[in-house]
Amino acid sequence: MSKILIINAGSSSLKYQLIDIENEEVLAKGNAERIGIPNSCLKHTTAEKEPVELQTEFSNHEDAIKMVIETLLNEKYGVIKDMSEISAVGHRVVHGGEKFSKSVLIDDEVMAAIKENIELAPLHNPANIMGIEACRNLMPSTPMVAVFDTAFHQTMPRKAFLYAVPYETYEKYGVRRYGFHGTSHKYVALRAAQLLGKPIEELKIITCHLGNGSSITAVKYGISVDTSMGFTPLEGLPMGTRSGNIDPAIIGYIMEKKNLTHEQVDETLNKKSGVLGLSGISSDFRDLTSAAQKGVERAKIALEVFNYQVKKYIGSYAASMGGVDCIVFTAGIGENTPCVREEACSDLEFLGIYIDRKRNESIPKDKKEGFISSDCSKVAVLVIPTNEELMIARETMELI
Ligand code: ADP
Repeated sequence: MSKILIINAGSSSLKYQLIDIENEEVLAKGNAERIGIPNSCLKHTTAEKEPVELQTEFSNHEDAIKMVIETLLNEKYGVIKDMSEISAVGHRVVHGGEKFSKSVLIDDEVMAAIKENIELAPLHNPANIMGIEACRNLMPSTPMVAVFDTAFHQTMPRKAFLYAVPYETYEKYGVRRYGFHGTSHKYVALRAAQLLGKPIEELKIITCHLGNGSSITAVKYGISVDTSMGFTPLEGLPMGTRSGNIDPAIIGYIMEKKNLTHEQVDETLNKKSGVLGLSGISSDFRDLTSAAQKGVERAKIALEVFNYQVKKYIGSYAASMGGVDCIVFTAGIGENTPCVREEACSDLEFLGIYIDRKRNESIPKDKKEGFISSDCSKVAVLVIPTNEELMIARETMELI
């Protein structure tokens, strides 16, 4: 039986899943929280046993992974008897730059290349590296695989990934569109093809990953040809707290008007904008939809702006691909918010997109996955729960 451990290391937390790759069942999963912060804890759940919350102190990522391994082996709440049952570890790595267009087996050379990308992802890659290094120390004979958020988008043609700024900005500094959430876009596109009963190589799919961070991708015949996030995850749709696209001239203008430093503007655009900034209420769509239902104007505005931008991307990616066969909604908002799906797909009848209200409302009320388009719709519209961990497990298994 092949078991794959999936590690998603953040700066102060580390999520894990142990997946049995033969039946794709999640044997255990959890989160090591507050790494390097007092009162750390490990939340651990398994398919069969009671969930546990273990209070402990992790001073670094290695401590956390040690605890994860001990917990997986524990007689009471563990799921394996011996470390040798773990065939490989799959690591989520945010930025693969231009070096990685696929997942790779990790060796010293790969580690060096991931480190070179720290400059491009200073908030994410260092934590991912700490997770990998800790695992390599603790499990030296277990193969490790890196699965990159950016890799799926490396197929974009240059007309889609280049910005119209002096060319040397790309050549010298690597400034271009990289795109993110690649593992999620790939997973739902493959699942959509499966549900449609057609080879992905024959389909033009628009995948809408709408969560705290949101991005939309045009997947033409199985490969990413354009995506809304760019050099960083700030570009594209408005998000929970990120602005998404704005006129770049606004930055200098606000800096001058409000006497802000570059860091302060950066913080405004990343942490205080998006639907939070517009609504002044919350970054969470549950709060926004309930406030909008009660008639709170600013919540309505935030939802209107968000939905309109989703619609614009659907239209523009249909144009990029010369048509669209299927639209997929996924992630926290995409899976749980029927009104966003309905609004974003409204007025798109000219593209052959028709939503069936009843089907749309039934997800997630009665089921989690399925078609929400009407029978007369030329374009299939689907809701598919994303599963980045499973995608990482599959790619890890393929490589070993
Ligand atoms: P992340 O990008 O952090 O993985 P998620 O994909 O979990 O984010 O999405 C988080 C967002 O999804 C929340 O901020 C919330 O707006 C929305 N969301 C999650 N669950 C629900 C729900 N049951 N109903 C409406 N919105 C939800």
